[in-house]
Amino acid sequence: MSNEPLLRFDDGLPDELLALDELDLLRALGRPTLVRWPGTGEARARAVATLLHGDESTGLEAMLRVLRRRRVYPFDLYHVIGNVRAALEPPGFAYRYLDDQEDFNRIWGLGDPTTAQRLAADAILAELRTADLESLVDVHNNTGDNPFYAIVTLETPEVLNLATLFTTTLLRWDLELHTLMEATHDLCPSIAVECGLPGRPESRAFAIDALRRYFGSEPLATNQVVRDHDLLGGMQKVMVRPEVRFRFGGELDDTVDLVLDADLDAHNFREVPAGMVLGWVHPGAAVPLHAIDADGTDVTDGHFEVVGQHLVITASGTPVMMTRTVEATRKDCLFYLATERPAPMDAEPPDPGAEDWQDASPRTGGALGALDGTGVLDADPTDPHQDGFSARLQPRPLR
Ligand SMILES: [Zn+2]
Repeated sequence: MSNEPLLRFDDGLPDELLALDELDLLRALGRPTLVRWPGTGEARARAVATLLHGDESTGLEAMLRVLRRRRVYPFDLYHVIGNVRAALEPPGFAYRYLDDQEDFNRIWGLGDPTTAQRLAADAILAELRTADLESLVDVHNNTGDNPFYAIVTLETPEVLNLATLFTTTLLRWDLELHTLMEATHDLCPSIAVECGLPGRPESRAFAIDALRRYFGSEPLATNQVVRDHDLLGGMQKVMVRPEVRFRFGGELDDTVDLVLDADLDAHNFREVPAGMVLGWVHPGAAVPLHAIDADGTDVTDGHFEVVGQHLVITASGTPVMMTRTVEATRKDCLFYLATERPAPMDAEPPDPGAEDWQDASPRTGGALGALDGTGVLDADPTDPHQDGFSARLQPRPLR
């Protein structure tokens, strides 16, 4: 058997492979795979990447469902099947990547490949660079509860028009993490699409619908943005410090240093107010998180504080991709914090009496009813002798 790092098919997958279920197909492939599905040649090529993370099965499931119809498109279609080894590790679709691997979506465009995985990524990239691509879409899942959304690195009309074929909730990504999307964005409009939790029928249905819209769409308009959308930006990466032992939910005891709210991911894509409690720490403990912005600058102090035993957010922001597993937190991060939101379409002129969040507590509280009384530390803006965030907080009892 060949030990080439990349398996290639230039004329689609043969029927006997396409008929297999997902895991049997991956067993037959055994390694990262690039399939070219020839089209009629009337339009420029398109590409879809799936399974760069071994536990994110929705993209592969949806692609196989669509490809089994064997439609011939006006364009050549390139399909990347990424971390096959991690996906095959029992019980199947359980690992983002294996302990002896790197994250397959953090190694693109590095050059001088030293490992089988990096060689595969380089070989895929080399072929995509010669394919005259019109666009590329990298399909992922989340590990926490999130809406369906797309990630863009540029805000050109063609990128926004590609992304909004999938969904109109968009995130701008400036973090430079050597993802496939970043390695190809000089080549063609290139986005990532996040299809909710893996294994859910609604995730699969969304991905199937969206891929069919993509494959059925005209070439992307480059002169104007054709669909309205919401774009979040100013992303900061929030990690749990490596020495901190933590869990989601339960009691704070001697076995952990941090207990995170078990339902944190319910706040994904919702703006949370300053004072929201993320978790609980031992008396006297420092902030157990580490946050960096797109430049790698440490921004922890500007966003998080320990008040008593509460770990709180000290500036309003919108958490996204918040996870609920220790493994995902360790392998990537706890969540990303979007600090820029689009203005609402029907925004009213600023109210001169509400300059900042302290003065607007009834309004923010009302908009975030689920947090009332349990998740948010109240501020007391009426006391003129207090200053600094901690002094204004009136912590509620631990749950
Ligand atoms: Zn992923």
